[in-house]
Amino acid sequence: MLNNEYLKRVYAQVEQRDGDQPEFKQAVREVFETLEPVIEMHPEYEANGILERFVEPERVVKFRVPWVDDSGKVQVNRGYRIQFNSAIGPYKGGLRFHPTVTESVIKFLGFEQILKNSLTTLPMGGGKGGSDFDPKGKSDAEVMRFCQSFMTELQRHIGQFTDVPAGDINVGGREIGYLFGQYKRIRDEYSGVLTGKGLEFGGSLARTEATGYGLCYYTQEALRVLRNDSFEGKTVVISGSGNVAIFATEKAQELGAKVVTASDSNGYVYDPEGIKLDIVKDIKLGHRGRIKEYADRVPGAEYHEGCAGVWSVPCDIALPCATQNELDGEAAKTLVANGCTVVCEGANMPSTPEAIETYQANGVLYGPAKAANAGGVAVSGLEMSQNSYRLAWTFEETDAKLKSIMETIVADSLAAAKEYGVDGDLMAGANIAGFTKVANAMVAQGVC
Ligand code: GLU
Repeated sequence: MLNNEYLKRVYAQVEQRDGDQPEFKQAVREVFETLEPVIEMHPEYEANGILERFVEPERVVKFRVPWVDDSGKVQVNRGYRIQFNSAIGPYKGGLRFHPTVTESVIKFLGFEQILKNSLTTLPMGGGKGGSDFDPKGKSDAEVMRFCQSFMTELQRHIGQFTDVPAGDINVGGREIGYLFGQYKRIRDEYSGVLTGKGLEFGGSLARTEATGYGLCYYTQEALRVLRNDSFEGKTVVISGSGNVAIFATEKAQELGAKVVTASDSNGYVYDPEGIKLDIVKDIKLGHRGRIKEYADRVPGAEYHEGCAGVWSVPCDIALPCATQNELDGEAAKTLVANGCTVVCEGANMPSTPEAIETYQANGVLYGPAKAANAGGVAVSGLEMSQNSYRLAWTFEETDAKLKSIMETIVADSLAAAKEYGVDGDLMAGANIAGFTKVANAMVAQGVC
């Protein structure tokens, strides 16, 4: 519910201008619903038009990406880079290659990224990009030609001091390598313009693991502070089987939990003995196969068609690590009915508004994406620092910094929640802590 007049007015503008962008509206609404006490305590925000500026990207770049497939046919995809907010640092955020990518999807991701990056404590603004290109079933050569064409346009909009992209869904080490090579070739510049680079050419140790590990550090810390509890002995349901899910599984297992599921867009596997991660890694990282193969290889594991079914598996902790709106109100009710009391988000906006209502009505410890999955971009920020210093930290050093950042995010979210009268609310606290830092920077920098 939006009660405050200023919040209502700006949200109405969003509805009017961006009425055809459901994901973006959803992300804005979720944040606005928690900002009322902030807007009331800070009249200078309205006086400086902070909200009006906050929901309008500084720049939206949309471009044609032509490339030639292996049969010699010309293909055309659409590329995007949304430079949302640079109040606290250069635009920073991933690139997503997926057929579901639209302007609305990139815009919601860019909007979330502003607050997420602010929470990391590092100086990074918010941006996001991508394409409706589907790498599934494409050869390496096709992916390379696509990446080269994508970067041929993107390069004129980015730079180490202006905008630093990274990976997201379907953009991993292979794609970042091709994109980096093309940037270097066109610009004749060797810089930290992308993060998630290979270790041989400026990448950071622990970047691959960062989102999944960070998610578990965040969850562990929230459990410790709010419940005096931990992962030890818990049953965990994880959706997805990409980079985030794999390393969340690894860390949760290391912290003493039993992870019993993995999924992809076709279905999910349930392994009552606990997921054997080396097999998932072999399937997904080794040969980009389907998760169904797990059940063929592991006796006792079951495969079920349809990825949403994963939420019917009883657990103590659920970590959605696949994609937006993967967990709806019904799925949330099923989770709660089966005993789940913790949901922390590895994917961006995986819970629908109805799911979040269900968590709140049932006392679920809910760690929202922009806080819980900030570990990925946090280590990207550390990669930028290492590139600037022209040195490389060890895995242990970087991992320790990541852990400390995730613990700080929990502490800062809870401190903001307390200050603004919503004690213990990790969602409101994350929105408030992330927002006030950016809003104060915008006020200080004048109308720009
Ligand atoms: N795509 C990741 C995210 O959603 C990482 C972005 C980055 O490293 O810049 O935060």
